[in-house]
Amino acid sequence: MTDFPPIAFNRAAPAPHFPWPNGARSALFIGFDVDGETAWIGNTPANGDRLVTVSHGGYDGRVGIERILTLLDELKLKATFFIPGWTALAHQAQCVPIVEAGHEIGHHGYLHRRPERGAFEAAREEIDRGFEALDRALGVRPIGYRAPSGENFPELLAYLTDSGVTYSSSFRDDIRPYRHRLHDDRPGPIEIPVNYAFDDWNFGMTSRVDPRPIFGREAVLNLWIDEFEATHSWGGVTTMVLHPQVSGRPMRWHLLRDFLRHVAARDDVWIATGAEIARHYAACEPTSL
Ligand SMILES: [Zn+2]
Repeated sequence: MTDFPPIAFNRAAPAPHFPWPNGARSALFIGFDVDGETAWIGNTPANGDRLVTVSHGGYDGRVGIERILTLLDELKLKATFFIPGWTALAHQAQCVPIVEAGHEIGHHGYLHRRPERGAFEAAREEIDRGFEALDRALGVRPIGYRAPSGENFPELLAYLTDSGVTYSSSFRDDIRPYRHRLHDDRPGPIEIPVNYAFDDWNFGMTSRVDPRPIFGREAVLNLWIDEFEATHSWGGVTTMVLHPQVSGRPMRWHLLRDFLRHVAARDDVWIATGAEIARHYAACEPTSL
């Protein structure tokens, strides 16, 4: 029987206390995962022969990305787009405007394959190919990483650090940023932890191959506002995990707009990209630790 030593899995020190810029009480990190078709074929290659199933992801290139960019432009907000390398190459014409609009590009694997500890070489290849593809398609070298299918393991975290990744936004274990400690005790990337209640896939994606209940506007908007307000009162960061193939659909686009308007109407929230939050954390670190 597998046993585990009774040691916390995450060895990072507690999140330090530091002020948000401009007297803000909390931060909002708008993150989009532009999975495209990779969400459907990365872990399930057999879907490559299922054109209708894969077309859920095709929405990103045909409609979703463009609509999301329109929304951010209207609200004058900057976001971070985590893009699998395959998606950047397959939908280069749709992804270039993301860069041109001044948004940040983050690493999200190559084919959205879930990192598995038992297959380190494959996980490393996902990282390398992701960097190459983002450079080739968009001319960028990201510093932020969000794990495809939300997984990570110690050796991969070290490899990401050695590859120049300065922040990660995947873990679910805090409400404020903290710095990872690698398995060899070196400092790792800064973590900007995710609130899984802000993953739109949980509420707005259903399919024949993965049927789930979907939730309407009132349920999701109320949940998001309540989660945001409570995180705000605790001085945390509200990290969103949005997908154009979900929140770029008509009703969910309006729902997202209403939520972002709610937050933007306040003058005590710092709405920032992942890179900006990581930079601020790093600037505060010497005095706070
Ligand atoms: Zn994803």
